[in-house]
Amino acid sequence: MPYTPYHFGPNGLVALMLRRWIDVPVFLLVNAAIDASVLGDRIFAPGDETVHQFLHMHTLLVGGCVGALFAAAIYYVPLLRRLCEKGMAWLDLPYRVSLSKMLLAGVLGAWIHVGIDSIHHADVQILWPLLGDNPVNDALNGMFNERSLILRGYVVRWCLWAWLLLFVQYALMLNAFRLKARFTAVWRFRRLLSAMRLRQPQLN
Ligand SMILES: [Zn+2]
Repeated sequence: MPYTPYHFGPNGLVALMLRRWIDVPVFLLVNAAIDASVLGDRIFAPGDETVHQFLHMHTLLVGGCVGALFAAAIYYVPLLRRLCEKGMAWLDLPYRVSLSKMLLAGVLGAWIHVGIDSIHHADVQILWPLLGDNPVNDALNGMFNERSLILRGYVVRWCLWAWLLLFVQYALMLNAFRLKARFTAVWRFRRLLSAMRLRQPQLN
């Protein structure tokens, strides 16, 4: 993708839907870790024609490993963990750190990133080292690359739609949490009232 923030839409949407099993901050931030390779390419190999092959981070194999290492780094560095906790608290979302959830989020988040990039960019070697080219892009673009521009437009629009859906999903979730909190408070109050009534001495 031309800009990493496009990825936050689809990854954020999936992260919120699967938040019971995966770590939301890691699932989002792993996009930046994978796209660090684009920056590395521009710094260390500015002359070559590709931008998504530096250190093979835009592949399922290396990208998945980078995602797992990134997740472990966040789990074991207290400052990064606390930043994740504070970020989720700021978003008013329930959160508990778990290594297994973080590792799963790191690997899956990186794979979704590489998968989306493989549709958008011809130079992504998704199946490296098995294949040096991009079978996803080749299959979707047509024999003469005739659908390349249309396909890139679709990917960008899907990412923007995912951003919009993410906002709707987030707003609905916050309302659901608040409603649940209200129902719980009413239920506790009624239980307290009935307990007080039982404790009152019986007249007559
Ligand atoms: Zn990328």
